[in-house]
Amino acid sequence: MASLRSVAKRLEGKVALITGGASGIGESTTRVFVEHGAKVLVADIQDELGQSLCKQLGSPESVSYTHCDVTSESYVQNAVDTAVSRYGKLDIMFNNAGIAGEAEPRLIASSLHDFKRVFDVNVLGGFLGAKHAARVMIPAKKGCILFTASIVSKISMGLSHAYTTSKHAVVGLTENLAVELGEYGIRVNCISPYAIVTPLFQKTSGVSKKEKVEEILSAAGVLEGAILEPSDIAQAALFLASDDAKYLNGVNLPVDGGYSLNNQTWK
Ligand code: NAD
Repeated sequence: MASLRSVAKRLEGKVALITGGASGIGESTTRVFVEHGAKVLVADIQDELGQSLCKQLGSPESVSYTHCDVTSESYVQNAVDTAVSRYGKLDIMFNNAGIAGEAEPRLIASSLHDFKRVFDVNVLGGFLGAKHAARVMIPAKKGCILFTASIVSKISMGLSHAYTTSKHAVVGLTENLAVELGEYGIRVNCISPYAIVTPLFQKTSGVSKKEKVEEILSAAGVLEGAILEPSDIAQAALFLASDDAKYLNGVNLPVDGGYSLNNQTWK
């Protein structure tokens, strides 16, 4: 019986912190991690959404919320310390919070403010999350740090310059940290999803209907039926966070039905 339980629950006994955990991919990952036995601290700036998600999923002993703006080091530090004080340790840090930037990608019209803001959330936020997670994972000599990158780290989709370059930076950060932290038993990987209809995606692409995404993707010749949901990314995060992926380090895992192999631009 005990072994059946451990097969079913792949994160039993683990503690995870998920940034951007109140919506979209982060919300779905919170659900999947809790289902798989992890204790989860959701960190976001959308307090009502985050709190109601946690209430829905269980008691504060297993899943809870903390307000955390990932662009602020004191908030990130506090989120990591809260995970440790509430749940005893930190095994999995999922740096998932992200923003899209201006919908209009034209270079000359792009604002410096927008560029810096996107970098602050998508890159600096991930850097701070990794830094403070490593602070507690290094003494434990184990841990898993994940980032959500994007298909735009692999191909140009003609989207916001800030967004695209920020996701290239996330891959660079992943690879650098994988080398640096490997000696402490800490694995660092990222996931590169393609289009999933979430609030962020609607803002980046102007596409708000799943049917429209289906139309674009079927014209692009990706894997038949590969219309992603947030839960598909959550399953990839589950795999990377679990001991099944114990030798995966420094990987940028595309979850895109093959789109990035077959297409150079988003049309
Ligand atoms: P989403 O808008 O549903 O979720 C993003 C979450 O990040 C929100 O809950 C938001 O409140 C939170 N957030 C934003 N700024 C924050 C900050 N400063 N501090 C803390 N939290 C903050 O969008 P999503 O699509 O689920 O995005 C999650 C990640 O997936 C992002 O990193 C995004 O770039 C990446 N991604 C999404 C897609 C897609 O098609 N949806 C594709 C590739 C990559």
